[in-house]
Amino acid sequence: MIGLSRRNFLKTSACAASLHFLSESAVADVLSADRIEHPADRLQPFPLASVRLAPGIFRDEEEVNARYLDSLPVDRLLHTFRITSGISSSATPLLGWEDPGCELRGHFTGGHYLSAVALASACSGNTVLKSRGDEVISGLDTCRKKIGTGYLSAFPTELFEHLAQGKPVWAPFYTYHKIMAGLLDMYLHTGNSDALQIAEGMGQWAQDFIGIFSVDQRQRMLRTEYGGMNEVLVNLAAVTKKERYLDAARLFEQPGFLDPLAGRRDEMQGLHANTHVPKIIGAARMYEVTGDRRYRDISEYFLAEVIAARNYVIGNTSLDEHWTTPPNQLNGTLAWTNAECCVAYNLMKLQRHVFSWTADARWMDAYERTLFNCRLGTQNAKGLKQYFFPLAAGYWRAYNSPEESFWCCTGTGAEEFAKFTDTIYFRRGSDIYVNQFIPSTLDWKEEGLILEQVTQFPREQGTTLKIKSSRPVPRTIHVRIPKWTTDDAQVKINGRLLEAIAAPGSYLAIRRTWQDGDTISVSLPMELRQEMLPGDDSVAAALYGPLVLAADLGAGPTEEPFRIIHSGDTVPKNLPAASSLPKVATTPDAFTKQWVQVDSPSELRFSVAGDNAKHQVMPLYQIRDQRYSVYWQMQSLKQS
Ligand SMILES: [Zn+2]
Repeated sequence: MIGLSRRNFLKTSACAASLHFLSESAVADVLSADRIEHPADRLQPFPLASVRLAPGIFRDEEEVNARYLDSLPVDRLLHTFRITSGISSSATPLLGWEDPGCELRGHFTGGHYLSAVALASACSGNTVLKSRGDEVISGLDTCRKKIGTGYLSAFPTELFEHLAQGKPVWAPFYTYHKIMAGLLDMYLHTGNSDALQIAEGMGQWAQDFIGIFSVDQRQRMLRTEYGGMNEVLVNLAAVTKKERYLDAARLFEQPGFLDPLAGRRDEMQGLHANTHVPKIIGAARMYEVTGDRRYRDISEYFLAEVIAARNYVIGNTSLDEHWTTPPNQLNGTLAWTNAECCVAYNLMKLQRHVFSWTADARWMDAYERTLFNCRLGTQNAKGLKQYFFPLAAGYWRAYNSPEESFWCCTGTGAEEFAKFTDTIYFRRGSDIYVNQFIPSTLDWKEEGLILEQVTQFPREQGTTLKIKSSRPVPRTIHVRIPKWTTDDAQVKINGRLLEAIAAPGSYLAIRRTWQDGDTISVSLPMELRQEMLPGDDSVAAALYGPLVLAADLGAGPTEEPFRIIHSGDTVPKNLPAASSLPKVATTPDAFTKQWVQVDSPSELRFSVAGDNAKHQVMPLYQIRDQRYSVYWQMQSLKQS
């Protein structure tokens, strides 16, 4: 989330008219059935209710997150919405970015919170959180009726006037997007029809508001972060079949950002990362709904470029929330303020879209990289979330406070940890794609087929899929053979080895008539390898299979201000300088096994003999309270 912009844009007298709503000139704007959504042969996720997590680290984290969401009282969530709409409230306000004086208030309480409880309800059957969501919707419905214009927010329309007038304002449309997305999630995942009605009113208000400005005025307003307004309006169009929301979505497009990407040019240096990834998700949805190939080209180029040229090894990007360098030049950028967690959340969302068009395993490899290394581990035992992901040596993880922070990353984290099931399996026609190795059950009721995935992955180097069906089912099951595995990967059906296997980095398609009790055993050997920091061939990170390995540099600080940030600040105060990267005596062209030792594959324990100490090394997601280092400074053997 970008900080409040102090740029004082040119004031325009025309803005005085900004709050006059367009009349309901409404064109007959119902989309014909063939204009909306072109799934063609696109892969689709399964309905969230068909997949459940089995015991394991993901379900543990899901439950921790649910307990945190359950701890937030509805009256406190609704407080600033009620005040804004003129309804009295005596609830104790939440603080941080939900403080009654903060210009982002409502982004979590009426936005991320609704998305998170909707996802938790659909993904895990959490009925308590569903009823919490319904209560919040009911309260919001009362607020929007009191306002009576379709507008709904926890702050008054005055902030939008400031945006129009070029006065300093944080990000009103960013917050508005979160609320609309939360409402749509409550409709789509829990069937709350009031939520859709409120979202439609908000969509119309937004279109009427921004639609009256000249192109130049609008483009100037869009320099202020607006989240995924384009995405949520496309989603609203897809749900309601009303083309007017597609028109509204186009009002939130910025040629200055999209055109270079369409020309396959990386002009991202200087841009705020998490302001821009959601715009591409919106473009991806435009492709899916309109079929306009340009949006797909933009999305694919952007994603490939960020992953290849701007990501750190953990599968996330940015320094001080920005792309501060030319591509492939991350040298000198390791800091506390790397890799804002929201960016990981949004990159993974985009990966799901691009994968659904291409069935290319590279996107699910990338998804796995981010999931295991930049999402797992970013929640503590109380459900509190990280903001930055420090990558300079000697730092540690810090988290938001329960009720005094409410960062953007608190919100996207609450959503992420509620929806681990959404990408494990996809389908195309009657085919099943097994994308991720997470213990879970897919219950495909219409087809009378249950697929149970049993695995201790990543402690276990592979997975087992068990078929349950009351009748023989002819079907192709596609299993991802990840890029990180070796040529020794193998698959057995009912204990018999398949003679052929797909190359690492692709899907193995297994076509047969499946019988009840059939099993697919997938062996995916992991090995050590290294990746250099782009732009510095003397700085390396070690990986084992999909796991980024980190040096345990000993106990981190115990003082709470370094651990839990009790405010809207996103970096602990009085942060010490980073340490030097731990040094290893090796060269970039050496094999990783020459400097990293696998002590226990099943326990995922490793070690590295550094310059003056032997470092214990473990998967990064297992680092909890310790100081750590992800990167190593290589010293040539001669110098050592
Ligand atoms: Zn964030």
